[in-house]
Amino acid sequence: MNVLDQPQFEVIVAEHYGMCFGVKAAIEDAEKIASQKPVTILGRLAHNPSVQGRMLDLGAKVSELDGEDAPTRDVLITAHGASDRDRARWRSAGHSVTDTTCPLVHKAHEALRGLVAAGYAPVVIGKQGHIEVRGLTGDFPEADVVLSEEQIDLMKGGEKIGIIAQTTQPIQRVEALVKRIAARFPGSEVQFIDTVCRPTKERQKAVIDLCRQVEVVIVVGGNHSNNTRELTESCRKLGCVSFQVERPEAIKPEWFSGFRKVGVTAGTSTPDEDVAKVVRYLRDLSRDSVPF
Ligand code: SF4
Repeated sequence: MNVLDQPQFEVIVAEHYGMCFGVKAAIEDAEKIASQKPVTILGRLAHNPSVQGRMLDLGAKVSELDGEDAPTRDVLITAHGASDRDRARWRSAGHSVTDTTCPLVHKAHEALRGLVAAGYAPVVIGKQGHIEVRGLTGDFPEADVVLSEEQIDLMKGGEKIGIIAQTTQPIQRVEALVKRIAARFPGSEVQFIDTVCRPTKERQKAVIDLCRQVEVVIVVGGNHSNNTRELTESCRKLGCVSFQVERPEAIKPEWFSGFRKVGVTAGTSTPDEDVAKVVRYLRDLSRDSVPF
């Protein structure tokens, strides 16, 4: 590309972005164990291809959390957590279980358990089939899992309704759905325990601030990462053009034509080095000389 044709823009990185402490700790534990002995990861350690690739390079195997068998004696539960039933099932099948469930996912489990014990009909605001939601509802199959008004319309409800949320849902969506549930069941006592985790709230708030400053946002993260997709979706709702990429090679220079300020953020499963590569690529592309 002729240097005169190069787009020129400033690159602004969100105040909060990228991998959270829960996923970082799980990866550290997984790498340590995989370098010492054969281990099977139950599900995806992080919804990110570079993390998955690194684990496979270390020889780790992958099986489904709710599957029947694993090729190694050691198995590892990811930061997304698991139901007590699944944990017990793997142990009773003779596996040694390393549990890297994030403490904030544990808190969501405790909140749900407490609501059920207090007689509330359990509701999880979250994505049907997501591994964290499957873990949350695995011990309470009667729980309603809702993420839309249509799903709320199908709920049976009860005298007392107890609601928690998948930790990575945008809090504004969760609060709107809680209001909708309360409106749908005006005679019910509705209790909501906010289990959306702090790193998710920080990244969602930071993306709102970012969209006020820039015209286009690059969201770095795995295509299968729920919270990365939520960040991309938030940008669009805020009227900011956004593109989600897993690596710099996916970026097209024409995306920035006519834009003066480009923002970067990343989901809670995206490693810092993936973000750094994208920021360096963008700064090279734009001749923005600020180091990253
Ligand atoms: S996204 Fe939140 S709940 Fe999930 S691992 Fe990270 S800190 Fe924990």
